[in-house]
Amino acid sequence: MSNNKIIVGNWKMNCLKKDGGNLATQIRQSAKNSANVIVVCPPFTIVSEIATILADSNIDIGAQDCHYEEKGAFTGNISPAMLVDSGAKYVILGHSERRAYHAESSDLVRKKSLAAIKGNLIPIICVGESLAERESGQAKQVVEKQLVESLPENSSNFIIAYEPVWAIGTGKVASSGDILEMHNFIASLPICAGKPILYGGSVNDANSVEILAINNVSGLLIGGASIVAEKFLKIIDNLVGG
Ligand code: PEP
Repeated sequence: MSNNKIIVGNWKMNCLKKDGGNLATQIRQSAKNSANVIVVCPPFTIVSEIATILADSNIDIGAQDCHYEEKGAFTGNISPAMLVDSGAKYVILGHSERRAYHAESSDLVRKKSLAAIKGNLIPIICVGESLAERESGQAKQVVEKQLVESLPENSSNFIIAYEPVWAIGTGKVASSGDILEMHNFIASLPICAGKPILYGGSVNDANSVEILAINNVSGLLIGGASIVAEKFLKIIDNLVGG
């Protein structure tokens, strides 16, 4: 595998035009020589704004969700075409916060993934076990089921993000051994073969280097630390090859 990594910042429901714009401007400046894939995922309201700031840079834009229909009577929803029109290239799908707070099933995530691909977006499809599932020894089974039910055909272009639910926003990072075991397991599944596998869950500037060195970790999905400029910029600075 090349040294190039995929670093995705999930801004969640944070940032107005001004602070999001400042953050994007700093990332643009700091990452201008990076050979890595860097993606920022602002809230829908400022996707266009951030896309303008990052135009002609080496930083891509992602969104945090999309609907599976192209258009129509779906009040409050956003289609893949609307995201592309706003400047997005990627879309995060099946994040555990969507699964938990919006009751999104893996079946729905799969429908969205297919629509995203059809609409020329690259989906970043999230899976991960709860603490209870890990403690009862079911982590791999749960993750495999989510993958089988959420992923489109392997022939399509998508990215997987393994995010143990108990590690998201909690400051508790999975151990290197647990990350290695799960990433090796995911990489061994035929439906995931050859796909990039990101790790997410309390990644910050102090632990990113160690996590990125783990076999089959193709990159990071970062929440909290991605909206703190110094932390996100340090994570990028620390990448092999800058
Ligand atoms: C996430 O939102 O995908 C995430 C991993 O959040 P955090 O980095 O804050 O744990």
